[in-house]
Amino acid sequence: MDCIFCRIVAGEIPSHKVYEDDMTLAFLDIHPAARGHTLVIPKQHVADLLSADPLDLEATVRGSQVVARILHKHLQADGINVVQNNGTAAGQDVFHYHVHLIPRWTGDQAIRSWRPGETDHAALGSLAAELRAAEGT
Ligand code: 5GP
Ligand code: ZN
Repeated sequence: MDCIFCRIVAGEIPSHKVYEDDMTLAFLDIHPAARGHTLVIPKQHVADLLSADPLDLEATVRGSQVVARILHKHLQADGINVVQNNGTAAGQDVFHYHVHLIPRWTGDQAIRSWRPGETDHAALGSLAAELRAAEGT
């Protein structure tokens, strides 16, 4: 098994579990962006959002809500970023689907957001129409 997260699920390498249910596991990130940075994963190996079984996605979202509530209540987080990278170009390093939950406190500089771009309604309208037409292709 060459997937590091599958090895964590199997207990072959150590992790620091925050939460577990039948379908998901949540554990602390080894290089945290903030205190309490947690990864929530389906126990079944799926590479990313594009290839995942919707049941695994649903279970991961449910598990993420449980963990987010724990982080919010017990670490007194003011906010929580949900980050989920798909593909090398998007910064995915581990190709087992995972959701990052990153607790935030007012004024911290834990992660940077994107630069807001410029567009207009004509461009947005034609792009949205193009994408709707492509649905299911
Ligand atoms: P990605 O860039 O793929 O969205 O995020 C992968 C995350 O997995 C990174 O934040 C990284 O710190 C974390 N990570 C990689 N290897 C391990 C590990 O062996 N244990 C834990 N707990 N986290 C890991
Ligand atoms: Zn895996």
